[in-house]
Amino acid sequence: MRASGTWAYGVVLRRIQSDPGTAPAVGARCLDAMCGWVAAPGADADLVGDECLAHTELNPSHRRFAREYSDVALVTCLEPT
Ligand SMILES: [Zn+2]
Repeated sequence: MRASGTWAYGVVLRRIQSDPGTAPAVGARCLDAMCGWVAAPGADADLVGDECLAHTELNPSHRRFAREYSDVALVTCLEPT
């Protein structure tokens, strides 16, 4: 029995998801060989993406970025114990 983010392990149904009490860490850096541009790190992937778009607007040949996303995952039990 498995739904998105849910896994039945043994006899207890559990779910893993981003911990709602934490914020993800999102970052990006330009992969152009001669450029050291790095987006301001934040918790909003859309804002970091907007920074990448703005960087390409100013530097049209800089179109590739290494993006990073990390968060704290929380496993919760879906059944009474
Ligand atoms: Zn660049």
